[in-house]
Amino acid sequence: LMHLTRKLIEIRSMLLSIDQSDALKLPSIVVIGSQSSGKSSLLEAIVGHEFLPKGNNMVTRRPIELTLADGKTPEEYGEFPALGLGKITNFAQIQQTLTDLNLAVPSSEAVSNDAIDLRIYSPNVPDLTLIDLPGYVQISSMDQPETLKEKIASLCERYIREPNIILAVCAADVDLANSPALRASRKVDPLGLRTIGVITKMDLVPPEQGAMILAGNRYPLHLGYVGVVTKSAGNKFSSQSAGTVAKRSENDYFGNHRDYFGASSSLMVGTDTLRRRLMEVLESSMASSLHGITNAVQLELEEATYQFKVQYNDRRITAESYMAETVDTLKSRFKDFTTQFRKPQVREKLKMMLDEKVMDVLEQLYWLDKRMPELGALAADSKVKPQDVEAYWRHKLEAASSLLTKSGVGRDSTLLVADGLRGLIDSIVSGDPFTHHPRAAERIVQFSHVILRERIGVTSDQVENCIKPFKYEVDVDEREWEQGRERAVELFQTELAMCESKLKEIRKKVGGGRRLRSLLGYVQGLEEQAKERRNRRLAREEDVQEESEPGSYRYPPGQILDARHAMLYSDRLSILKLRLAALKSRRCKAGPESDVLCPEVFLNVVADKLAHTSTMFINIELLDHFFDQLPRGIDSRLIYDLDRKEVEEFARENPVVKHHLDLQERKDKLEEVMKQLNSLSTLRTDTQPAPRRQ
Ligand code: GDP
Repeated sequence: LMHLTRKLIEIRSMLLSIDQSDALKLPSIVVIGSQSSGKSSLLEAIVGHEFLPKGNNMVTRRPIELTLADGKTPEEYGEFPALGLGKITNFAQIQQTLTDLNLAVPSSEAVSNDAIDLRIYSPNVPDLTLIDLPGYVQISSMDQPETLKEKIASLCERYIREPNIILAVCAADVDLANSPALRASRKVDPLGLRTIGVITKMDLVPPEQGAMILAGNRYPLHLGYVGVVTKSAGNKFSSQSAGTVAKRSENDYFGNHRDYFGASSSLMVGTDTLRRRLMEVLESSMASSLHGITNAVQLELEEATYQFKVQYNDRRITAESYMAETVDTLKSRFKDFTTQFRKPQVREKLKMMLDEKVMDVLEQLYWLDKRMPELGALAADSKVKPQDVEAYWRHKLEAASSLLTKSGVGRDSTLLVADGLRGLIDSIVSGDPFTHHPRAAERIVQFSHVILRERIGVTSDQVENCIKPFKYEVDVDEREWEQGRERAVELFQTELAMCESKLKEIRKKVGGGRRLRSLLGYVQGLEEQAKERRNRRLAREEDVQEESEPGSYRYPPGQILDARHAMLYSDRLSILKLRLAALKSRRCKAGPESDVLCPEVFLNVVADKLAHTSTMFINIELLDHFFDQLPRGIDSRLIYDLDRKEVEEFARENPVVKHHLDLQERKDKLEEVMKQLNSLSTLRTDTQPAPRRQ
């Protein structure tokens, strides 16, 4: 049967790790008593070591779940499974750890329901599970909160419920009528069927009085009272171990009073007797719980198995497999997206950016030029030879080309691609399942930014360097010219359509074409007047007081502004139409020799060459590095950097995975417990017939 208790103690801790509900609880011994009743000394005597926190300031603030077991080695050591500190062979260190854990409970809270799990392994300890609870407070003192008394009482109340065994600790020198431990136990176990009384400090009362208490006639307990002496008053500061000193004084005491406590008295005395008694009681209590707990576990297991089948179709996962799956998803998504960064796509993006630049240059140097109509006329005149065109236009073209090639193409194109990559990473990590893993997502984003930061400078310098020749000379062949011309026509058509739609918008806003026309007429009138005033002022060379713009009453200022925009758009429209006609003319179709007359085509070809060269070097210096380093970074930062516990944490960040893992784990644990319980019942049926045969 000994074997049974040990097994059941193991099963009990497994069940505790499955869930805390009362249904799956095997009995344990709960130690209650008032402060200074000798509870700590008693537990230390049972264990044979001093290991509990000492001090006046109520050091037990959390329950201690103390599991005693034979470690099957001569070594004696303790373990705090929740802390992962490993074996602790120094009991002073166990004491210190318990003190720290208790003091970690803020004194405002005073007691916590959160139990400390401590296991002590030794060949000298009995197989027992004991729960040490904070001692009952008799008198509320100044430095202890008012509610403390009730808090401790309710904590104890929770633990002394069935099926637990109550160890009610009372000091011999205090009237049992005043024992809070006995009072609490009587409430839940009036007959004392699961309460053992322990009378400490037997040495402090005359032996006949002690014997009377142990006889238990005043407050009978079915399981009886055991008297102990766990500390000799005289030997308090002895250097010998707690166990040895206490044991010697206990033996001395009961030995000296054999008349009262000898074998013939049938009273239970001594720590050894108590240990044996506790084991017996725990054993029989465990044995009688066995049937009930087996049924309860069976039910829970059936439920968990059913749920696992229904919810997950019995599919098993691990934190590692989830992690690997997540990394695969990430990489394949990444791979899908890289197609957006192949050369043609990058080149297309860069060309669009450069087209913008070309339009800006054209606007700045040509469209705002008053002599623009001349250029149109020259292009239309078939007798004009390109070499005869005025130097003015040649210079203009050179200025335009230089404005374009020196506009910081290296930096702008590199940043454009880098931005694209940032956006790519953001979109990859913002989807499921990374919504559950913000820290991992952040790490990937950070890492990608590091790679980009490292490469941007080098890349943009390299690109700038390679487009340098275009700053001096651009050779254009026939084919390039024709492509450039077609592209320019397209761009102008788009720009034209844009201006037209803007105009339409304004027309709609001010209330139709007629209204817009009259508004325009009005604004033009205003402008004429303003010009006239300016001229008069210049002529008289004197300061005329600025008159407020007349007529601002006729139209609201918003509409005046709209009209001004409309004027700009229609000016732009007329110039775009002129140029579009030129671009489609025979002159512009003629080829590169028309460059001065068709600057749009020439600049377009330059932009195309810039885009091509930039793409090549951005590809080598930025994209290749990025697409090579990022997946490797994901491997090293997301997988190899994490230990088992972190992988587990990562997986459980995803609620769906957490639920899956939890259920799977619960089922596994219940299965294991069930297996152990089954092996126990065969053990019991094997052993039970034996006594009958005798
Ligand atoms: P706790 O507050 O209930 O944990 O009580 P302790 O174990 O700390 O004991 C309170 C005081 O009683 C301490 O000063 C112990 O030395 C003393 N004490 C404990 N057991 C005995 C005993 O059997 N005999 C005597 N004389 N003193 C004891």
